[in-house]
Amino acid sequence: MTVAAGTARRKRASVETPKTQRPQAADLLAWYDRHRRALPWRAPPGTTPDPYRVWLSEIMLQQTTVKAVAPYFARFIARWPQVRALAASPLDDVLKLWAGLGYYARARNLHACARAVVERHNGEFPASEAALADLPGIGPYTAAAIAAIAFDAPAAAVDGNVERVVARLYALADALPAAKPRLRALTQALVPRARAGDFAQALMDLGATICTPKKPACALCPWSDACAARRRGDPETFPVKAPKAEGRQRRGAAFVVTRADGQLLMRSRPPKGLLGGMTEVPTSEWRHDFDDEEALAHAPTLARATPRWRRVGGTVRHVFTHFPLQLVVYVATVGTTTPAPSGMRWVALDTLAGEALPNLMRKVVAHALPEHALPEPRRGDVMAAPKQSSKQSSRRAT
Ligand code: SF4
Repeated sequence: MTVAAGTARRKRASVETPKTQRPQAADLLAWYDRHRRALPWRAPPGTTPDPYRVWLSEIMLQQTTVKAVAPYFARFIARWPQVRALAASPLDDVLKLWAGLGYYARARNLHACARAVVERHNGEFPASEAALADLPGIGPYTAAAIAAIAFDAPAAAVDGNVERVVARLYALADALPAAKPRLRALTQALVPRARAGDFAQALMDLGATICTPKKPACALCPWSDACAARRRGDPETFPVKAPKAEGRQRRGAAFVVTRADGQLLMRSRPPKGLLGGMTEVPTSEWRHDFDDEEALAHAPTLARATPRWRRVGGTVRHVFTHFPLQLVVYVATVGTTTPAPSGMRWVALDTLAGEALPNLMRKVVAHALPEHALPEPRRGDVMAAPKQSSKQSSRRAT
């Protein structure tokens, strides 16, 4: 036997579970019936899920935890109980209610998707994975999750939790991300014809509560007997991951200008791209080679005022998906008659909470004007850049 053939045989062996020990959907569903999580967007047992709530929750849960999403979901449902109401609302209102949840391209796509559902599908979400994936902001994972949960379609919704469970079940030696197609196929093979929606949610719950990244509770797992990684004794080593390249640090300067009458100089970011459409104070470009010594060359020019800039001690640090960012912050106060430069506006400091301020800008304001600090949502320090322009990332946090 050649070396290559031997390697291939070992890899195959890792997913060839004896027939009697194959994971059975029925075992997982029985566990789900006893231990399902009560989530605000989840239909109670025996009731029909509302596709609008399923879709809204799945978009919010992309890269974001259940705990962080819950209050946002409640606010969105209270404000826009149906997709038609959301579609009829201005985008700016959606961005404002989304502020702090991160991954802001999702909010723009959410709004675009609501409008597409109304215009193309008469206000009813389509049931097929393909038609769902054709809507703005719905990638392959989200399409499968909505099809399964809302319409009971036998779709394999494979997020990070499910990848972990399935990689462990089969002790899959292939490393992520190359292993994704294999994991998807293995997951699809597990999906039952009946109760596909419950099965999808059961797998999510198993990954979130039992088969956790560290210290999985294998003794409580309904698939314990069938799990290859549990038998090997090293479930935490799965899924195997390829080493990740870190983004290069970028740096820049932020300029916090207040007027004597309690107004803050702000502007809106371009609608597309990182933090698209969100509100910010003026900043320099964020570059790898930014020179702090020349920061003031990037300060906004104000008519009828010569700001006396003061550098605030320390820096504001923030981590986007693709790169870490460090900003130096300058502050200045100008007179009440100072007009805002072109493309900028004055915003009353006591109305900041109503602005679409991303977490990075909340940090900048807190650093420069601690008395006007706004709370940051509990998402840690990590906020993402949109990875795809029209289709969102398919990852979902626990
Ligand atoms: S037995 Fe352990 S490692 Fe295997 S699927 Fe269950 S919780 Fe995960």
